[in-house]
Amino acid sequence: MATLAPAFSPKHMDYQRIFEEINEEIKNDAPCGEVASYIPELGRVDPNKFGVHLTTVNGEHYSFGDSDEKFSIQSIAKVLSLAMAYNMEGEALWERVGVEPSGTPFNSLVQLEYDMGIPRNPFSNAGALVIADILVSHLANPKEEFIRFVREVSGNNEIDYCTRIAESEKSMGYRNAALINLMKSFGNIKNDIDVVMDFYFNLCSIEMTCKELSRTFLFLATYGICPETKQTILSVSKAKRINAIMQLCGFYDEAGEFSFKVGLPGKSGVGGGIVAIYPNKYSIALWSPRLNKKGNSSKGIKFLELLTTKTQASIF
Ligand code: GLN
Repeated sequence: MATLAPAFSPKHMDYQRIFEEINEEIKNDAPCGEVASYIPELGRVDPNKFGVHLTTVNGEHYSFGDSDEKFSIQSIAKVLSLAMAYNMEGEALWERVGVEPSGTPFNSLVQLEYDMGIPRNPFSNAGALVIADILVSHLANPKEEFIRFVREVSGNNEIDYCTRIAESEKSMGYRNAALINLMKSFGNIKNDIDVVMDFYFNLCSIEMTCKELSRTFLFLATYGICPETKQTILSVSKAKRINAIMQLCGFYDEAGEFSFKVGLPGKSGVGGGIVAIYPNKYSIALWSPRLNKKGNSSKGIKFLELLTTKTQASIF
């Protein structure tokens, strides 16, 4: 029987060499896509930035490019707000938001009326607004308590919101206002719309580097337990379920394509970030602000596709 070549054995995986190899392969590709400009402040970001950071469950680190530069994590924060709300609300949460892939863009309104104000999943904007509403119901000071949770999970007290980006999004937040008003009319938003939207825009504005982001998400590769502090962030079952939702819904109407090409659970944001999880192996964060037509980082997806191809390792 054939044995695995050392380069492909998880114990001997030389991620650094693989990152460099991938970069050689794609560095001369024509730039693909545009930065998100519907949030004016995001439109000012240098489109050619590119960073990668991989953290293994054993605490090894591998990085490439602009991996130490902060960027707006945007919808990636929806995973963290879901984790916090799931802990507080338990299974009752699924009465207000589903777990099915939507097959529609992140800011789509079309299904919401048919579905009587119940979003298909927590990673669409509609779903994340319901999660924000749940947190507003549970927390006395939502912004303070949520960022405290994020700092705890990330093991980093410096992580913060970016008011400039939150305000910029608020100034153009017409679609999110439409979504939340529609859900309010169906009774699926319990709090004041402006309070929930303010909280939502703030959580989307959190900034992290690729290194911070991959470290923050490591708990989803370790079945809910923070590998450094041994603190339980989520139960094994909840961590499994959040990974499953990332697999099916993390990239909106490109979730199937991402599974097909990359084969890992992941989440994207319109800031150009992507985080992907290999349970029991690693968490990886990438940043490249040019987005494809589905609002996901073009180069980030390409890089991950080559990573799981070259390492011959994905969850499938
Ligand atoms: N804050 C962004 C919005 O609501 C998040 C979207 C995203 O990252 N896909 O439009």
